[in-house]
Amino acid sequence: MSFSAEKIMHGVGASPGIAIGRALVVSRSPVQVPYRPLAEDQVEGEVERFRRAVEAARSELNAAKEELGPDLADYAYIIEAHLGILGDKMISHRSEELIRSQLINAEWALGLAEAEAKAIFDKVKDNYIRSRASDVEYVAGQVLRHLAGHNGIELSTIREKVVVVAHDLSPAETTQMDLGWIMGFVTDMGGPTSHTAIMAQAKAIPAVVGLERVSAEVASGDFVIVDGSNGTIIVHPDEETLHDYRDKQEAYEIYAQEILAQAHLPAATMDGRRLEVGANIELAEEVSTALTYGAEAVGLFRTEFLYVSQKALPTEEELLASFVTVAQRLEGRPVNIRTLDIGGDKFASSLELAPEINPALGLRAIRYCLKEPSLFRTQLRAILRASVYGQVRVMFPLISGVGELLQARQMLEEVKAELAAEGTPFDPDLKVGIMIEVPSAVAVADLLAQHADFFSIGTNDLIQYALAIDRVNEYVAHLYQPLHPAVLRMVRQVVDAAHGAGIPVGMCGEMAGDANEAPLLLGLGLDSLSMNPLAIPRVKQVLRLASAGEWAGLADQALGYATAAEVSRFMDAQLGKHFPEVLTPRTPLPKDMG
Ligand code: PEP
Ligand code: MG
Repeated sequence: MSFSAEKIMHGVGASPGIAIGRALVVSRSPVQVPYRPLAEDQVEGEVERFRRAVEAARSELNAAKEELGPDLADYAYIIEAHLGILGDKMISHRSEELIRSQLINAEWALGLAEAEAKAIFDKVKDNYIRSRASDVEYVAGQVLRHLAGHNGIELSTIREKVVVVAHDLSPAETTQMDLGWIMGFVTDMGGPTSHTAIMAQAKAIPAVVGLERVSAEVASGDFVIVDGSNGTIIVHPDEETLHDYRDKQEAYEIYAQEILAQAHLPAATMDGRRLEVGANIELAEEVSTALTYGAEAVGLFRTEFLYVSQKALPTEEELLASFVTVAQRLEGRPVNIRTLDIGGDKFASSLELAPEINPALGLRAIRYCLKEPSLFRTQLRAILRASVYGQVRVMFPLISGVGELLQARQMLEEVKAELAAEGTPFDPDLKVGIMIEVPSAVAVADLLAQHADFFSIGTNDLIQYALAIDRVNEYVAHLYQPLHPAVLRMVRQVVDAAHGAGIPVGMCGEMAGDANEAPLLLGLGLDSLSMNPLAIPRVKQVLRLASAGEWAGLADQALGYATAAEVSRFMDAQLGKHFPEVLTPRTPLPKDMG
């Protein structure tokens, strides 16, 4: 297809399927700074190129200033400051001087000028002025982007079929795109449970994340193959590869259709145990996809979206409209509405979150809500009001102990009393569940079970906190092991605690949607599994072929191993024996990971 050599890059498969097409680089990555010595006769051309980049950055800043609505007019001074830095001797003049005196390219000269300017700021005693060094960095970054030809693509204007290549994509950025045009996503950053990955899965868009340098190495217009099922991308594929992948793409599509045809059968095991298989969703619009793929419930409705996609906080009426839509579209099937889980890797454009050194251990989820009672109450009112439109339940995220749960429940009671006094209808018996995703909650699961109507294990966070592996850090993605004995023991402990207290326990982390783990989760005693809608047909198919009694014994055996690698080997052997036609062995763990 191309005259350039074929190149394969490996990342993390984040959403299955194969996309083949042209790349569009929308990267906001820190631009790589190349070093290039110049010949004398190249100097003036380089200065010209630098000036054009400065002018482009200036026009952009001016345009941004004009676009500030009246509500943000007070912040125009920040843009003014940036324009000031752009015009200042320290950056523009100094860079030109360096291009001329040292015969170096504009990017390198700018880097040196920036470092000199920052060194000057560093010496200033006043904290405020010293911190302005970050403005210098920002402005230099803007110029650099123009030098590199990254013009900050307007995501909402994408109107051709493309594979989006980015350093990282925030949920807000993803929402700006009309996803109908997006064939695939590839990003430098992110792990399998980053929100970009989850969004791609929900929309059935193949995605590979955690590629580290893809945004620097692929150019817009390059022909690429995205294999979201095994986490590779191929740039400039040759004819043979392309041919192979067109076949694979076709086979995948046939397979996906076949499995879909059985999606509506219940997940009843061979010996008659029935699990509820539900969907994880972020948008009311996803309910129809979820039902198509055979969801029997929405086991996790993530409610961050309305806080992320717009500048103003959602009103009670907006939240209510979204919750009612979901409840009604489910036509009597249950929905677990999870209260706001903001913070950690989840940003909100409508909320001012203070910067934290360890955001994953910081003010997130229920902690944030308990600190911001009016925001929390608004959500609780909307959930309670929606409860008369379907089978609605509330679920609190990141509960770390009984005190926190009682506090949240107390607020729920207050809101109920408020609604009752107003004469606003709600379900007085609204079920209250909690997510088990902090190791301390596992340790006191028996106590928590006394105060909750159901549990849902959030393995994305539970694994992160139990194994101390940042879920969005690609450098440690290989250490993120759902089959780690510590994780399996925790799941067992939570199931025992829930059943001991007579309440049901489900799982809604990504682990629940992995068909390879489904028999083990069945054996560990989970009552329900909730997952991205695309995973439902396969998980149901596997559960239908499994025997609960047999897997209870196999789960006990799995719990006897000392390392993730041993559990993984044991499971692969069992899967090969029990489901030879259905499951493919997982990628083996590297030997050194025990
Ligand atoms: C989890 O942590 O497993 C979970 C389902 O919640 P989230 O991915 O939204 O943090
Ligand atoms: Mg979580």
